[in-house]
Amino acid sequence: MTRDDEPHEGRTADFDVVVVGAGFAGLYALHRLRELGLSAVAFEAGDGVGGTWYWNRYPGARCDVESIEYSFSFSPEIEQEWDWTDLMPSQPEVERYLNFVCDRLDLRREIRFSTRVTRMTFDEPRAIWSVETDAGDVVTAPFVIAATGCLSAPLEPDIPGVSSFEGVSLYTNRFPKEGFDFTGKRVGVIGTGSSGVQCIPVIAEQADRLYVFQRSAAYTFPSSARPLEPSELAELKAMYPEIRRQQQASPAGAVRLSAFAALFQPSKGEILDTPYEEQLRVLDEHGWLGAFAWSDALLDIDANRAATRLYGEMIRRTVHDPETAASLVPQYPFGCKRPIVDVGYFETFNRHNVTLVDLKKDPIDTITAHGIRTREHDLELDVIVFATGFDAMTGALTRVDIRGRDGRSLKDEWADGPRAYLGLAVAGFPNLFTVTGPGSPSVLTNMVTSIELHVDWIADCLVYLRDHGAHTIEADADAQEAWVEHGASLVEGRIPSHPSCNSWYVGANIPGKTRVYMPYAGGHVSYKEQCEAVAAEGYDGFLVG
Ligand code: FAD
Ligand code: NAP
Repeated sequence: MTRDDEPHEGRTADFDVVVVGAGFAGLYALHRLRELGLSAVAFEAGDGVGGTWYWNRYPGARCDVESIEYSFSFSPEIEQEWDWTDLMPSQPEVERYLNFVCDRLDLRREIRFSTRVTRMTFDEPRAIWSVETDAGDVVTAPFVIAATGCLSAPLEPDIPGVSSFEGVSLYTNRFPKEGFDFTGKRVGVIGTGSSGVQCIPVIAEQADRLYVFQRSAAYTFPSSARPLEPSELAELKAMYPEIRRQQQASPAGAVRLSAFAALFQPSKGEILDTPYEEQLRVLDEHGWLGAFAWSDALLDIDANRAATRLYGEMIRRTVHDPETAASLVPQYPFGCKRPIVDVGYFETFNRHNVTLVDLKKDPIDTITAHGIRTREHDLELDVIVFATGFDAMTGALTRVDIRGRDGRSLKDEWADGPRAYLGLAVAGFPNLFTVTGPGSPSVLTNMVTSIELHVDWIADCLVYLRDHGAHTIEADADAQEAWVEHGASLVEGRIPSHPSCNSWYVGANIPGKTRVYMPYAGGHVSYKEQCEAVAAEGYDGFLVG
């Protein structure tokens, strides 16, 4: 399809492309643009590179994918030059890696740090975006790549009295650079998602007392984190081409998912057809992962509940206090949130200095100047750690005032849930690309694999436009609707969209956010094929002008 009703003669702009964000996506985008001979500037709200791995410096922060796969595949040189020290890299190691990549590719000079993009306006007659920042910049470019991240807009918890606390308030999603010493402190952690589950065992070791405020219990599995032996690393480095090939053939964009290995092994049969004694035998043999090693556990809600009962048995075997153990068993289906990997999470509740506060039984009444008052207790605290998560997938985009054709606001367009074509572009917002946007597999995969796919697709698209003398590309509204419907059909009636699945995947953690399953559940391989087919057919479903 073409759109040729716009004059673009004599358009001038400061840059060819503005990139927003300097995490994995922004850095790779800058590199590809430079390779193509395009001028670019990146704006980054933080004062360093790394994105997720710059902001989330809480104790215990660690990747759930093996380092060898949670890394860029585009440069065999960088693969060989960088030495991973851990099988599952910690936050400082990933941050160091991204700084290394940034300097190795000399990208830093194109990034304006400590600068937040606040407004982006598409000038239709000139087909140019005007990008404004909180530092007063106004720059123009025909194209914008929003590399703003799926999990980068912190959720501000709406707990009464949150600002009245006179102790120290810490947020896992913007943890102090210098760290924090919890020694001798009375600490409360609110939130038991991935961030809470990772930091709770570490804080428990330091704090005088730790109260864990849990609204929803977590499905979490022991991490396979351990140092990499030098000989093992050498072997892995030699295998990079094969590992990368296998990643591309994997629906998760990762093959060595050691923490979840048993979930991907041949199943032990259908749990609903298996006597409980036999289920317990599988649990004895496979531990935590044995609870979900059943072919029906992710397909049938009753099977899922049976598997959760088995998972609860593992919790009861681990946590000594029966009441605490009962509270730690999740009440929602497995598979509706990203499973967590932890180091010693359940064991932490056997410590004498740790108390679980089950908010389902004893909800928070208010945060006071001196601590947290629940319906039944008044707990004095020196520190509150908020591990309360993000306005995921859409938040980073809707917090910018983005104006497309006819002054249309992206925030308004997405008020009833995000609509995007391939998760890459939005009808009415020409020349704006969203890396790992809603409607793409993103958070259901190894994100680095998804990011590379998107940035490569965008780079190829820019070459196509240049080669064809085209100035604009925009998602066609009908193609977009078909994609949104296709995405919805993949989860309809299935576990991820079960009414009891109150995950951030459906926006349930944000009061008032329309409930829509945002990631694309078709897997990396099928999604990649569809993206490639769209490009091969001259950007089918896009209007090229
Ligand atoms: P980000 O890393 O989020 O970077 C986006 C950047 O854009 C941020 O630095 C932000 O400051 C900047 N930005 C946003 N809006 C603006 C604006 N308006 N102006 C200027 N700058 C802006 N994924 C996995 O696959 N495996 C994992 O183990 C894993 N662990 C995670 C752990 C945590 C704690 C979190 C929060 C996420 C994790 N993820 C994981 C997902 C992770 O976000 C991605 O893997 C990946 O790092 C995303 O890279 P990105 O560049 O797309 O976005
Ligand atoms: P999250 O999964 O959204 O968890 C937030 C937690 O805070 C939940 O337990 C939530 O309860 C609770 N919460 C939120 N508001 C609350 C309130 N007002 N009162 C009480 N409790 C409240 O956020 P996250 O832990 O930061 O993780 C987000 C995502 O980042 C993960 O799903 C994962 O994709 C990624 N991540 C990955 C890793 C890793 O393994 N490498 C580590 C960290 C993060 P409810 O569940 O009831 O809403």
